[in-house]
Amino acid sequence: LAHYKYYNNKDLLEPIEKYVSLIRKVFGPGPDQRHGYPGHPEIELALLRLYRATGNQDAYHLAKYFLEERGNPTGQEGMYYFDWEMIKLRGESPYKRPDHYPRSFSRWYGQSHQPILEQETCEGHSVRCMYLLVAAADMVALSHENSQKLDNAAQWQGAIVRLWDNMVDKKMYLTGGIGAMAQWEGFGIDYFLPAGTDEGGCYAETCASVGIMMLAERLLTIDLDSRYADIMELCLYNNVMTAMSLNGRAFTYVNQLASSEKDKSLRSDWFEVSCCPPNLIRVFGTLGGYLWHFGGSKGDAYVNVHLYTNATVTFDVDGKKVSLEQKSNWPWDGQVAFRLSGAQDVDLTIRLRIPAWAKNKYTLSPPSQAAVIKNGYLVLSQDYVAANPAFSLTVHGFEPRYLSPHPHTNQNTLTLARGPIVYCVEDADNAWETNHFKNIMIRKDSQVSEERCILESAGEPYVALQSVCWERLMDQWHSKTAGVEPGVDSFANATGTERKLTFIPYYLRANRGGKGHMRVGLQRA
Ligand SMILES: [Zn+2]
Repeated sequence: LAHYKYYNNKDLLEPIEKYVSLIRKVFGPGPDQRHGYPGHPEIELALLRLYRATGNQDAYHLAKYFLEERGNPTGQEGMYYFDWEMIKLRGESPYKRPDHYPRSFSRWYGQSHQPILEQETCEGHSVRCMYLLVAAADMVALSHENSQKLDNAAQWQGAIVRLWDNMVDKKMYLTGGIGAMAQWEGFGIDYFLPAGTDEGGCYAETCASVGIMMLAERLLTIDLDSRYADIMELCLYNNVMTAMSLNGRAFTYVNQLASSEKDKSLRSDWFEVSCCPPNLIRVFGTLGGYLWHFGGSKGDAYVNVHLYTNATVTFDVDGKKVSLEQKSNWPWDGQVAFRLSGAQDVDLTIRLRIPAWAKNKYTLSPPSQAAVIKNGYLVLSQDYVAANPAFSLTVHGFEPRYLSPHPHTNQNTLTLARGPIVYCVEDADNAWETNHFKNIMIRKDSQVSEERCILESAGEPYVALQSVCWERLMDQWHSKTAGVEPGVDSFANATGTERKLTFIPYYLRANRGGKGHMRVGLQRA
């Protein structure tokens, strides 16, 4: 599709379309067809993109079949398709299982344990889960656009939103990472979110958060609600951006929230399975598509602004070119200046996202009594837009704030954040640290100050945060006789030496040498 779009010929598209028609002959509901679906969901979203680009009916119906058939317990000769493949087709023992299955028949690994419409929680391999839901959301979007009407579109949308909520509320790290379990590169049980290898896991693959961004982008076309864009931004600035060094030459695959001796906070030049680096490059290459949605026709045109940066969008409304420019110093400051051109007689509505952390606090200039926030977007009416081709929005709430994970994670920690940026501590700034910040405590009432910095090697500006921490005293443990009992008499947290503590954005970690000690969530004193 990229080749087709760039070269405007079908040299690659034609053989692919033949291949799609072959796959559709093999897989489908007919008596002589295989009632199967792919092990790694991904073709579904590609098929729906193919349908959008070419109108290829085989592509649409094949994707729809894969989505609807997935998880059918009696699909093939009364069996799950993958069970049938394993037992009947390959003649394998069901007890000979892949490395990433903790038990035999771990069908949830590939989201095929039950039909998607019946799934209550996000399970299994997190990248597969995201790509699958992206395709499901595309199918709903095509129905909304009346391109391919789906009778049960509302049911599909309900399932996607249910899984989104489960993921964000119970299975997502504060950095927008998902997937606690390395063995199956995916979701653990609800609220199981250990920070690193020493604490029992943490995978948070870069590709998985790219998948969340893709899903959020689709959901924003179906149901404009700032919660999707907030999570899209959280993933972009944290779990996704942290995956590449500032010089663009080293990458992470797994993005833990705490380092350990086994897994230090470091990047690698390459990976044996090298999905993440090119996925990251693709996100940066297509970033413009995440910033805003726009369109409509004369009398009802719109731009919905999801992300703030420096950019211009130019689009066509019934043959008329409309441009909207935004200028800002985001993510460090909340002021965004907008300039519109060519919108006379078009009747344009502009919607601006107010992030949840801004707590509905913003300043619009020139002001408007009529501007209201709807589903997290400040709606600028056609009249306002017509009267003010230049206006600015200042989003408030950029003061440093503390985040805590859900109490059921049993993690009594504090994490600093500022705007969309989540912070961490590194030994590069705090050279006294020797044990991955395991024995450091902070307090919510400590003063936090900001420092505008520039990372010299890359000319990268950022805001560092300064506060204080205390050493956690472990005297009771250190004086205990070894091997006598697994606990000691309960004691109040004792704090020792007070030290200055410097925080930097999580995405900037591992750029300045050091020992690779890093932590996002610090114990609460
Ligand atoms: Zn990856």
